[in-house]
Amino acid sequence: MWEERWHPLREEWVIVAAHRQSRPWSGAKVAPPMPAPRRFDPACYLCPGNVRVSGAANPCYAGTFVFDNDHPCVGLDAPRELAPPAGIFRNRPATGIARVVCYSPRHDVTLAELDVDDVDALLRTLQQQMQDLTAQPDVACVLIFENKGEVVGVSNPHPHCQIYATNFTFKHIETELLAGRRHLDETGRNLFQDVLAAERQDGRRIITLHGSAVAFVPYFARYAYETYVAPLRSVGTIAALDDRERRDLATALRDVVIRFDNLWRMPFPYVMALHQAPVKGDADGFHFHIEFHPPLRRPNLLKYLAGPEIGGGNFLSDTSPEEKAAELVAAGGPHYRSTPT
Ligand SMILES: [Zn+2]
Ligand SMILES: [Zn+2]
Repeated sequence: MWEERWHPLREEWVIVAAHRQSRPWSGAKVAPPMPAPRRFDPACYLCPGNVRVSGAANPCYAGTFVFDNDHPCVGLDAPRELAPPAGIFRNRPATGIARVVCYSPRHDVTLAELDVDDVDALLRTLQQQMQDLTAQPDVACVLIFENKGEVVGVSNPHPHCQIYATNFTFKHIETELLAGRRHLDETGRNLFQDVLAAERQDGRRIITLHGSAVAFVPYFARYAYETYVAPLRSVGTIAALDDRERRDLATALRDVVIRFDNLWRMPFPYVMALHQAPVKGDADGFHFHIEFHPPLRRPNLLKYLAGPEIGGGNFLSDTSPEEKAAELVAAGGPHYRSTPT
């Protein structure tokens, strides 16, 4: 396979050169996974009852637990008065609220090993966070994400995600918002709904369809095993899902992360991001979805961003989205650690 595919949400071409996968590789390999963690780690800043670097003690929580990040990348006390830079350069205040969401009091599980009730409870917690943060006067956009695995820089295995509620809109959200708005103006239709219709018409990249939620490897996937999980109904943020839709989304989400782990029978690293419309202003044409960007192409083989991506600005995919989707379809069933081997 050697072609370009149009990425309608990012409005850019993705170069697909899937024959490259077989070329000899002498590059870096990632370290083998660490030994299985313990159920409780007295040195973990996320485990119940432990004291964090700020001096605050975690409560002995039983479900999800949310706290303000002790090392925030964005904060409400960021400077509001900035000295203007030289000439054409521009700056503006970067303020926000950064929080951490623990999925479970258990140190030794991942999202893939929570049961559906727990994943649903996590999504309900995120809905509550959205309601709280949307009401804050200085918040324009809420980015919720999980970095999982040492290859994406996470050394603490305790299952958690992060929330950045910012006074600015993240670039990918802005790009998708503008693309969706333009498509709506030109066709009267929701862009993501058109993507969903085409995926269902083709069918080869659908991973699971559960009630009102769907998961698929998009036609225009940039990363190997890149997967979208979305409600079928167009909503701006996760807060707008009703209880049934949230439960269906939790089921589809859990199904996908189990397949990831089952693929190579190892904890599968990823960056997961909830793409939500900005919480202030017009969000017409947007469709809330969850994107998974896995950094590995094969076990111990990282996808490097290099000349085409960093130098040229176009993503070069080394893998066929259809093949990767077929591998994920075949990796269903219970989580590999839950069954005797
Ligand atoms: Zn822990
Ligand atoms: Zn997106």
